[in-house]
Amino acid sequence: EHIGSQPESYKKKKQYRFEAVLGTGAFGEVKQATWTPPPDNPHYADAQKVGGQIEVAVKVIKKKALKGDLQAVVDEVEVLTGLNHPNIVKLYDSFESKEKFYLAFQLASGGELFEKIASRGKFTEGDAANVEGIKYLHDHHIVHRDIKPENLLYIKPNSDQLVIADFGIAKHIEDNESLTSLAGSPGYAAPEVLLKQGHGKPVDLWSAGVVTYTLLCGYIPFRATETQKLIEECKAGKLEFHAKYWSKVSDDAKAFISALIQPNPDDRPTAEQALKHKWLVDAAKRQHEHD
Ligand code: ADP
Ligand code: MG
Repeated sequence: EHIGSQPESYKKKKQYRFEAVLGTGAFGEVKQATWTPPPDNPHYADAQKVGGQIEVAVKVIKKKALKGDLQAVVDEVEVLTGLNHPNIVKLYDSFESKEKFYLAFQLASGGELFEKIASRGKFTEGDAANVEGIKYLHDHHIVHRDIKPENLLYIKPNSDQLVIADFGIAKHIEDNESLTSLAGSPGYAAPEVLLKQGHGKPVDLWSAGVVTYTLLCGYIPFRATETQKLIEECKAGKLEFHAKYWSKVSDDAKAFISALIQPNPDDRPTAEQALKHKWLVDAAKRQHEHD
């Protein structure tokens, strides 16, 4: 499987000027770059707006680090291709060299939602944006499976536009299909993932609930470092809203979190239902009044 033929890939790399490292992951690093797409590229129109170049974030993945599973990157590209939503990071281009894959994404220069933890303590558009993005993915039969603050990025500094990034373990899913492969990140993964039971779309709603909880108080709800203990905590699904950190948070916000963090996936709302939750609807309304 190839995402770009070899000679073509060398030509393509010349279209990029690489700059600072934005982040490092398990498979390589993500570098900021300016891209000059050729005139026949569909993104050329975007580029023309900014003087012939587009600011991008290029995920550089070392093939060696994939330990034979090159298909993982082909899947990542395939899942992202054709998606178009303001809360989903856009993949502009992809190519490969002998040793590396290159995925060029829309630059999210506002940084990770992770950095905003505990500096806010109240609703922002980001809470709704995350669920909006998840709904769009689920409508397109995609489960993200790794929703967490490190993978939620702001498009610009001081902007409220949040995008879901990192489709490294996202999967296509058919109705009634159940996924069993490894997924998620400790602390954010749903109990059915940790228990290696079949899982599906509801895992993203659990993780969204954990993200909202964490953003409102500054710490994650299930914190055991030992896997077995963490599984027990998640399976019990017992949420504590410690008065010291939660007294100023509305009951609606707590109700929203409690609705999502349900140990039984069948008890969680769908993304569509979550978007209709009073907390999101009222808070979004209030924000628009302040605009
Ligand atoms: P990994 O699978 O290694 O976690 P990610 O796709 O999450 O890879 O990228 C790692 C980090 O690189 C992110 O957490 C983020 O800080 C940064 N990053 C990824 N994509 C972008 C982007 N489009 N714009 C800006 N920074 C990005
Ligand atoms: Mg990531």
